[in-house]
Amino acid sequence: MFIVFVGPPGVGKGTQCRLLAQKLDLLHLSTGEVLRQAIQDENELGKKAAQYIDDGRLVPDDIMVKLIDEQAIGRKHGCLLDGFPRTLVQAEALDQLLRKRQQELLIVVQLLADREEVLSRLSARARIESRSDDSPATIERRLEIFDRQTAPIVEFYRNCGLLAEINGIGKPEEVHVRVLDRVREAIDLAGKR
Ligand code: AMP
Repeated sequence: MFIVFVGPPGVGKGTQCRLLAQKLDLLHLSTGEVLRQAIQDENELGKKAAQYIDDGRLVPDDIMVKLIDEQAIGRKHGCLLDGFPRTLVQAEALDQLLRKRQQELLIVVQLLADREEVLSRLSARARIESRSDDSPATIERRLEIFDRQTAPIVEFYRNCGLLAEINGIGKPEEVHVRVLDRVREAIDLAGKR
């Protein structure tokens, strides 16, 4: 089964994906992690992605769609997609790639938190992880890019009937329970189809 997580940087997608991946024994594919690893490994993908990530901009769609096609789509048991899709072009490409393989998206989990909460989590993360893209100016750009380029995919998935809006405020375990409830509901529904 394929599950997409969407939400602004800092909302807790990574944490929630890790918890859900453990629970469902599914692969957690974080495109941000794959790109950061590629940069560390200094491979072709890393060379292409580094400047975009450091500037807080999105890596071009064609590069991202290829990455997902290679690392996610063929998986028999599916996976949790953390950070993909981030544009309408990516959402449509994902739809087509899954369709081609007769695979389905089970649910799109949208994690919600107000901007103040997200900013405080991001500045806490900046102190702990020292990510190159967690500086104040870059954070601002990433949030602006989320509003402009990624938020439209929420409507896309709402129209497909796949969207589950979940309150992302609270302890990770509390949010996890909310996520798990909605995912189990979707699994049950899919089983009845
Ligand atoms: P994340 O760890 O999900 O916050 O991603 C970190 C950075 O990786 C983003 O700010 C983008 O530069 C890049 N990135 C990750 N996923 C995507 C994607 N689906 N499309 C474009 N860029 C991405």
